[in-house]
Amino acid sequence: MNDANDPHDRRYPRELRGLRGDVLLPEDDEYAAAASTFFASGKPALVVRPRDAADVAAAIRYVRREDLALSVRSGGHGLLGSATNDGGLVLDLIHLDSVELPGPDVPAGTAHPAGTGSTGNRLVRIGAGATWGKVMRTLDPHGLGLTAGDTAGVGVGGLTLGGGIGWLVRKHGLAIDHLVAARVVTADGRLLTATPDQHADLFWAVRGGGGNFGVVVGFDFVAGPVPLVHFGTLTYRPDDPARLVTAWRDHMRTAPESLTSTLALIPPMFGGPAKATVTLCYADDAAGPLRAIGPLRAIGEVLDDDVRVARYADVLADAHRPPGGRLLSRNALVPTLDDAVIDAAVAAYLSGSSTVLRSLGGAFGRVPADATAFAHRDAEAMIVCAAFLPGDATTAGTDADGDAGPPGWAGVARHGTGVYLNFQSSDTSADLAAAYPPRTYDRLVATKRRYDPDNLFGRAHNIAPSAVPATEGVRQ
Ligand SMILES: Cc1cc2nc3c(=O)[nH]c(=O)nc-3n(C[C@H](O)[C@H](O)[C@H](O)COP(=O)(O)OP(=O)(O)OC[C@H]3O[C@@H](n4cnc5c(N)ncnc54)[C@H](O)[C@@H]3O)c2cc1C
Repeated sequence: MNDANDPHDRRYPRELRGLRGDVLLPEDDEYAAAASTFFASGKPALVVRPRDAADVAAAIRYVRREDLALSVRSGGHGLLGSATNDGGLVLDLIHLDSVELPGPDVPAGTAHPAGTGSTGNRLVRIGAGATWGKVMRTLDPHGLGLTAGDTAGVGVGGLTLGGGIGWLVRKHGLAIDHLVAARVVTADGRLLTATPDQHADLFWAVRGGGGNFGVVVGFDFVAGPVPLVHFGTLTYRPDDPARLVTAWRDHMRTAPESLTSTLALIPPMFGGPAKATVTLCYADDAAGPLRAIGPLRAIGEVLDDDVRVARYADVLADAHRPPGGRLLSRNALVPTLDDAVIDAAVAAYLSGSSTVLRSLGGAFGRVPADATAFAHRDAEAMIVCAAFLPGDATTAGTDADGDAGPPGWAGVARHGTGVYLNFQSSDTSADLAAAYPPRTYDRLVATKRRYDPDNLFGRAHNIAPSAVPATEGVRQ
């Protein structure tokens, strides 16, 4: 038992005595791990690890009384490092990590706005503090999966609230496209269940609007059957990157939606040579992997090919942060991957940026732009440019490099019509404007005013309750 569970222990603030969960102070063993994230080291005054919504509400009451900064942490992989802070309270959802299959099959088509309903769907109830690795390991014995991200250690909370782009994005859309409920503790301490029918405004906003509206303690998704997949990486000789990207684009334009792939152009770094790779996931029972994957083996000289048949649960990678330095990451959602965009992406790579193109379209693009707060459904691809810079990670909420971005970024940015905030290491008003078209933004602001008028949840990509309507042409 953590001492804070004792309702009479006067070392802890009144609101935090008698919790079911834990309170960690700087002298406690587990404090250091809980205070640091994948990208940032923080020094919060205390960390609360709730075991239920009542614990979360108690922490919120305390933060409000003491006027402390509040960070919410699920998997701790956020690029801004906003899941920790200096001097405030970190609400670490590590104990809220259950993954349950509460009932029998749900009707075909349920919660598949992307139009990919199938029989054998099951409701999955997931604590926001679970990692996607745990989710997939739990679903795998049932032959089920969910479209999520590519990394096992990333949290369900942060990835889902931003949208969730993973290895099944062209077949099944975003993670949020399979969400049917979110349980949210709001700034006034109420536990609300947001669904298409209850608190529908909140349900809309948490699907892409980030952590602006409350602490999401759990989600209900509809998982579907996932076959064995063909997964792996083709490594090419990187001598003609523009030709490679063009040939990859041409193939992805006609490839079946069961194929999702990313093309990465990696400049020399950490002592390694330049690399060009395509990592792919083909998820279909039907015959066809040869037709889907085969042409990719001919778009350049293949130096290595580890594409193999795998369980979907096994394709999520373990990510390790390169030692030292901080990540500078920018992305653009591009409606058409035309030759000018490809030239800009290649130029960014030649300038020194790791440049990764993720194929989109398919089921992702069939969801109406106003169905969720992730509006940019017309994107053919997302281009991420990244660089590692010397220096410590900060908890300041930005990567402190202004709008410059990684080398060559400006040329790519010019072609973007949107931004995916989960892959953005900057936090500016321009980022918000790029992520949320005016109507989406105004709807988010209206929802923010309803559920968090005092802006308690304001640490990352903040939708300010005081914002001027974007449809009037003015952005804060
Ligand atoms: C190695 C790596 C691989 C990645 N791969 C992918 C990928 O394939 N696809 C993809 O879409 N994204 C990917 N991402 C980006 C990822 O979606 C974001 O970094 C996301 O924020 C991580 O979620 P988290 O819960 O781990 O983060 P955290 O750092 O715990 O949270 C980030 C922020 O989200 C908010 N938040 C988190 N949980 C809650 C909650 N329960 N309630 C309210 N607010 C909350 C808070 O503002 C918090 O500060 C990757 C990131 C990394 C570092």
